Amino acid sequence: MTADCIFCKIAAEEISAKIVYESEDVLAFEDINPEAPVHLLIITKKHIKNIIELADYDSELFHNIGLAIKKLAADYQLDNGFRIVNNCGIAAGQSVNHLHFHLLAGRDLIWPPG
Ligand code: AMP
Repeated sequence: MTADCIFCKIAAEEISAKIVYESEDVLAFEDINPEAPVHLLIITKKHIKNIIELADYDSELFHNIGLAIKKLAADYQLDNGFRIVNNCGIAAGQSVNHLHFHLLAGRDLIWPPG
């Protein structure tokens, strides 16, 4: 756990969030400021700053993120489609420096995103 990391605090249950999925190494919860009717955040439980910081030994972790997304898509019946977004770094607008993926659904999602 990294001090002052809001997502580490959610993973440690020090800050509450609406948890929608949990496994040994992955957590998902509702975004506090939703940009779509369904807006979930899928995070690693351990602190990784961003996708650049993934290590070779994190391959299973990355796989487990995929399984979480698959399960959430089924749970939320997102048969019509959804979008996964990862903002990496300042230019992409990453505001929380803890690896996370946005799952957006429930409205038309324009392409390309802004
Ligand atoms: P990003 O800008 O890609 O780093 O995304 C960070 C996301 O975290 C934003 O969509 C925020 O609304 C969301 N967020 C920040 N704090 C919380 C929180 N305490 N609980 C849930 N979502 C949060």
